Amino acid sequence: MTVRNFGKFTLRFRPYTLELRHVFTVSTASRTTTPAVLAELEFEGVTGYGEAAMPPYLGESEASVLKFLNQVDFSGFDDPFLTADILHYIDGIAPKNTAAKAAIDIALHDLLGKIMNRPWHRIWGFNPASTPYTSYTIGIDTAEMVRQKVREAAPYKLLKVKLGLDTDKMMIETIREVTDKPLCADVNQGWRHREEALEMAHWLSERGVVFLEQPMPKEQVDDNAWLTENSPIPTVADEAVQRLSDVRKAFGVYNGINIKLMKCTGMREAHQMVELARALDMKVMLGCMTETSCAISAAAQLAPIVDWADLDGALLIGNDAFQGMEVVDGKITLPNRPGIGAVPLSAAHQTQ
Ligand code: MG
Repeated sequence: MTVRNFGKFTLRFRPYTLELRHVFTVSTASRTTTPAVLAELEFEGVTGYGEAAMPPYLGESEASVLKFLNQVDFSGFDDPFLTADILHYIDGIAPKNTAAKAAIDIALHDLLGKIMNRPWHRIWGFNPASTPYTSYTIGIDTAEMVRQKVREAAPYKLLKVKLGLDTDKMMIETIREVTDKPLCADVNQGWRHREEALEMAHWLSERGVVFLEQPMPKEQVDDNAWLTENSPIPTVADEAVQRLSDVRKAFGVYNGINIKLMKCTGMREAHQMVELARALDMKVMLGCMTETSCAISAAAQLAPIVDWADLDGALLIGNDAFQGMEVVDGKITLPNRPGIGAVPLSAAHQTQ
């Protein structure tokens, strides 16, 4: 645990390796662990928790997050409520580093919520009863493993299927042998040709797929826009949208956006992205990386105002370090606790 004291603020952080329950395969890679860094921000005896999770394809690593957090200097601040100033300063320390910035943003929000003694969904004015079901992700795998994962997903009402390899039809047909639940499909930019993508969109729509995430590479703007124009089911941008400034570019190219705290620097910007997407009449999906219930509970504070949630990140790991948002009968259930509502699991949280 690194401890850094700055006047009224103390920042603590330590690496934490997330162990995945299953080898996780998407169209670009496979892996069994995800590096993360857990952070704490303390002010006048109140501690907020934050987290950075760094799937390798986003370009951050344990080393880059630790380097960033070692550059953070709170000595110019003595009021945690100056979030606009503090987070503007954090964002300006270095470009990118979105997960590292999210660790600070989440810890600061948790700290403030605790000082105000209210959960963030309450501070924002959202109805906790309005949360959507969360999807549960089925990675690309053999037919036998897919059947097993679908059975494990029994409590979930919506399944998210990873597509984008030459096994797409096998994946869907295998799932359809086991369940008729609605599906959403995440292609992770795996398709290349728009006519084939449109053919697949029809084929998937006929088999109960309700939306299509990032069908083609984000660089193929015209192809993605053409598909969106012609597709029988909505398209959602994921890789094409990271931060607030990307929402405008996705307008007219996709029907919706997938917001993730680790891409967009945290809760403050995620909230702004939801508002902008709504103003543009776009759909909003709330997603995640493999994360502990810390970052998942932070994202879940926005769940009452989104169309779809894919907040299964903590369910896919075997060593969660927090108790927080829970999935009850497939539905996101927000804890009525201040801040982000995440409590460290003492056994997992040895502050060495
Ligand atoms: Mg995705």
